Amino acid sequence: MQTSIIGHQQIVEQLQRTVASDRIAGAYLFVGPKGVGKERVAHHFAQLIFCQQDTQPPTVCGTCLACRKADSGNHPDLQLIRPEGSLLRIGQIRQLQKQIIYEPLEASRKVYILTDVERMNAEAENCLLKTLEEPPASSVLILLTSNIEALLPTTRSRCQILQFHPMPTRELAEVLTDQFSVAPEQATTLAIAAGGAIGKALTQLEKGGTFTEEVPEILKETDLLAAFRLAENLKDNPEILDELVTWYRDLLFLQQGAPNELITHIHSLEELQRIAPYYSRLRIQQAIQIIFSTKSLLENTNTNATLALEVMCLKLLK
Ligand SMILES: [Zn+2]
Repeated sequence: MQTSIIGHQQIVEQLQRTVASDRIAGAYLFVGPKGVGKERVAHHFAQLIFCQQDTQPPTVCGTCLACRKADSGNHPDLQLIRPEGSLLRIGQIRQLQKQIIYEPLEASRKVYILTDVERMNAEAENCLLKTLEEPPASSVLILLTSNIEALLPTTRSRCQILQFHPMPTRELAEVLTDQFSVAPEQATTLAIAAGGAIGKALTQLEKGGTFTEEVPEILKETDLLAAFRLAENLKDNPEILDELVTWYRDLLFLQQGAPNELITHIHSLEELQRIAPYYSRLRIQQAIQIIFSTKSLLENTNTNATLALEVMCLKLLK
């Protein structure tokens, strides 16, 4: 496993300083889109704490026993807690609370990484709050979320919040080319489709780097139900908004006779070519504009998300 982190340089340096000065907080909340690298950085943070190579600033050597145990998922003081099915359950939180009171076995601290914490119900979150209010001195909780709004203000205020941003797509494309031997054209396509989230790009690459997703029905349908289905889907997966833009952009490129290298969804080229004549250039530009303004509305205001998405999808309908 690689011992360096791609992107998030400032966050990693901040965590190094935290470990160097031994001013580690009891709880952290890593906020950022899915696949952006929150879990990688959380794991790296744990290793900065565990690594037996005493360097300044602290680094992750990747070869000492502690590093190797953490990499293989066998470090007794590192626990990764993921939702069971769709929810992070109260039983999992109670289990954590039973264990966290004990001293670490090998490291100076025990590290608990909880992924997708927005998927807790109120009961589980209130249970977790008890630990966040008084975390044992020898433990660190790292909560990861792509939707901070779904958490109680009290949960947020108990944690040190670190914000993770996607990489600029050009930068991500370079990383994919330089470090993962992806051909430059494909790297750009991948980076755009992943919205700058490296984890997403790498997952796609593992699947063979092909884009097998289907053309969203909103591009082809005139049916009201299609609009509501998309709105419903977007409510749970807001990151699809970025993806949706890439489809409209493909239509725009096709209309302008742009070379195929610029087409993100090259595997759906034929279908897109069939659809493109039904759109005017103005309509595609309007569609992209509508998506961007909805995205900004959702991110910057307390607007009713369901309503905003439904309005957007109806506007997108032909
Ligand atoms: Zn090490």
